[in-house]
Amino acid sequence: MKLSTETFREALLEAAKQMEQHKDELTDLDREIGDGDHGINMSRGFQAVQKELEAQTEYEDLGALSKQVGMTLIKTVGGASGPLYGTAFVKFAGAFKGKTEAEGDELAAAFKEATDGIKMRGKSEFGQKTMVDIWTPFYEALEQQTDLHQALDQALTDTKERVATKGRASYFGDATVGVQDPGSLSSALLLRAIVEVLR
Ligand code: ADP
Ligand code: MG
Repeated sequence: MKLSTETFREALLEAAKQMEQHKDELTDLDREIGDGDHGINMSRGFQAVQKELEAQTEYEDLGALSKQVGMTLIKTVGGASGPLYGTAFVKFAGAFKGKTEAEGDELAAAFKEATDGIKMRGKSEFGQKTMVDIWTPFYEALEQQTDLHQALDQALTDTKERVATKGRASYFGDATVGVQDPGSLSSALLLRAIVEVLR
């Protein structure tokens, strides 16, 4: 399970495509248990990322690529999710500094650091029906070398049934049970695109 600078770039381009394809779905979910801007936020951010990745095809290492993506997401996404995704990539930049490839424990550690960054920035924990519910089982599956697609599918199923206790969705209380958290879906789209390029 190896991630290289070139395949990470490919995965991010695929993630941008996925955000466009799911833009309306993300916005509809956020309309139900939020303020209806998540699809628009993610689209704006990943369109900007796509533009940069198309303009620059070669990156020095995984760190340089992650740093540029993090800064772009912070600048363009907006909402609560902008700084959260931005922080995840800034943490990747630290973990991947000077590396053109990452695998095994090193790769798992980078995803744990990114998740810890999201939790710190959002003052959130696993189980509150946020994107943390997706990122946490994902890095655990990387650590334990279990099936990553299955981990993401299970995580999405589990978080859907939870009550939101963090972020804007928490104002909707019990009405959030049975509705997918938009940030969990966008995170699953991003992480699935990354799984696709691991080999
Ligand atoms: P906003 O909530 O400001 O409108 P978005 O709609 O873009 O921002 O993003 C909402 C998503 O961000 C939620 O679905 C959730 O997954 C995630 N989120 C919100 N607050 C937090 C937090 N404190 N910690 C982790 N994730 C959060
Ligand atoms: Mg919103």
